[in-house]
Amino acid sequence: VDAPALLHAEQLNVRYGRQIAVRAVDLQLARGESVALAGANGAGKTSLLTALAGVVPPGAALSGRVTLDGRAHDLAGRRRAPDPAIALVPERGKVFGLLTVEENLRVARGAGLAGARLTSDDVYGWFPRLRERRRTLAGNLSGGEQQMLGIGMGLMRAPRVLLLDEPTLGLAVPVIEEVCERLAALRDALGLTLLVAESDSQWLPRLAQRALIIDRGALVHRVGRLDAAQLDAIHDILLGIG
Ligand code: ATP
Repeated sequence: VDAPALLHAEQLNVRYGRQIAVRAVDLQLARGESVALAGANGAGKTSLLTALAGVVPPGAALSGRVTLDGRAHDLAGRRRAPDPAIALVPERGKVFGLLTVEENLRVARGAGLAGARLTSDDVYGWFPRLRERRRTLAGNLSGGEQQMLGIGMGLMRAPRVLLLDEPTLGLAVPVIEEVCERLAALRDALGLTLLVAESDSQWLPRLAQRALIIDRGALVHRVGRLDAAQLDAIHDILLGIG
């Protein structure tokens, strides 16, 4: 018998008015695994991640169920109070450009609520470059540094599941390689579970151990092994010729 999933989503739907962005999505993530969410631009990756994190934009209609470690959240008809155990790192890190690196981490840590927290020193241990830049305004960081800061911010409330929206977007190849390496190290050291949205098939094997393919809001394929033949097939699907 398989171990029960850490995160289990059932029949997730996201609508913006008449536009259906996520359709009847079922997915399971096991503790400590990295899974890619691969899809073309507009396929619904961001909408699915925000639904899982409980941060869909106002006006979006959400339904379905998300269970984390046996604790169920019913999403029907409302925005769910975000569970700090599921953290989202938005596209391009979405840092506060007019705050310093250190201030961004403090904002992400929050105050006054119950629950585990990391310190900025913990994050600097993972990303030494951010320690050097701690007094720099986040808006003056390079794209790679902003992405690392976004990941650090996602970690501050000690989540168990980290959802990442296209962490490779707009970065140079060596920087992407560094992001992939850091994510795998964080996963292994912290026992994190990762779901990583990606639109470029070449990075999937570096980001994840398996992949879910999303097209027009629905999960259309589940790929257990990211070998060359599978990557070619995924590449065609992402270009809309699969
Ligand atoms: P991208 O890589 O371009 O961000 P994506 O795969 O993340 O794409 P979503 O951003 O989830 O896809 O978008 C899915 C669909 O929902 C698209 O057709 C998009 O235009 C639409 N959409 C997304 N956000 C909104 C919104 N706030 N209001 C209305 N429609 C939206």
